[in-house]
Amino acid sequence: SGKFFVGGNWKCNGTKDSISKLVSDLNSAQLESDVDVVVAPPFLYIDQVKNSLTDRIEVSAQNCWTGKGGAFTGEIRAHYYAMIRYKLSSLLHAVGFTDFVTVTDGIRLLSKNLLAQTDSSVEQVKDLGCKWVILGHSERRHIIGENDEFIGKKAAYALSQGVGVIACIGELLQEREAGKTFDVCFQQLKAFAGSWDNVVVAYEPVWAIGTGKVATPEQAQEVHVAVRDWLTKNVSAEVASKTRIIYGGSVNGSNSSDLAKKEDIDGFLVGGASLKGPEFATIVNSVT
Ligand code: 13P
Repeated sequence: SGKFFVGGNWKCNGTKDSISKLVSDLNSAQLESDVDVVVAPPFLYIDQVKNSLTDRIEVSAQNCWTGKGGAFTGEIRAHYYAMIRYKLSSLLHAVGFTDFVTVTDGIRLLSKNLLAQTDSSVEQVKDLGCKWVILGHSERRHIIGENDEFIGKKAAYALSQGVGVIACIGELLQEREAGKTFDVCFQQLKAFAGSWDNVVVAYEPVWAIGTGKVATPEQAQEVHVAVRDWLTKNVSAEVASKTRIIYGGSVNGSNSSDLAKKEDIDGFLVGGASLKGPEFATIVNSVT
């Protein structure tokens, strides 16, 4: 449904040099014309990318703030706070809190006051020429502690300013094993209420992200159908049929074409493999 959509989420990776190489690989890649292609560089490099990347590819931010910005220079602070979180996590490990949940909760608690300052405002994102922003990514939910309410506010503000939202949802392994996949996804979807015209839903099961353990085409298709049903029931049949539902989690140049064959998989959100221009192009061209 809708035009195939492939996003590359570069996360917190890259240097001026590696990004310039990646951009030149993308500029020279042959990309199927019937695909929306978007890349999301780290904040610090958005301007470099916008100034060198072909207009064929749109640019997305990886995050934004919930409202009007003031002095949120997110990129610098994002790195600064990532460092603090890293230090906190090492500290917690050193004093014996090694289980994932405790460490995550500890970091969430300790960094709560800092969170408000890690994001760039939508106005700045727009000013840099970004058409999109990724929101609700599992790394922000589970490492940094963003909740649905916070994510919902960001989405509403971004949409109100005309910036499209790549709305990420997805369950943890233990939630899947407990049979809660749909409940978790629906709960997360609810937070993205508002104008659905400019929203792409990215289903990214947390257990598949960066693990090399891709969901099977059947597993992904099953959730995509459920998401579409949810949209039909809770928004409208029109929105359900128009909204792109893309899959993310260990997508690469070898597994993308099987996934793309599934009726309700309308594209991908790619992490690791989006850092390699030719492989990302292969994924873009897996449109069926
Ligand atoms: P990987 O493709 O590296 O698993 O990451 C997926 C992702 O999180 C995209 O947002």
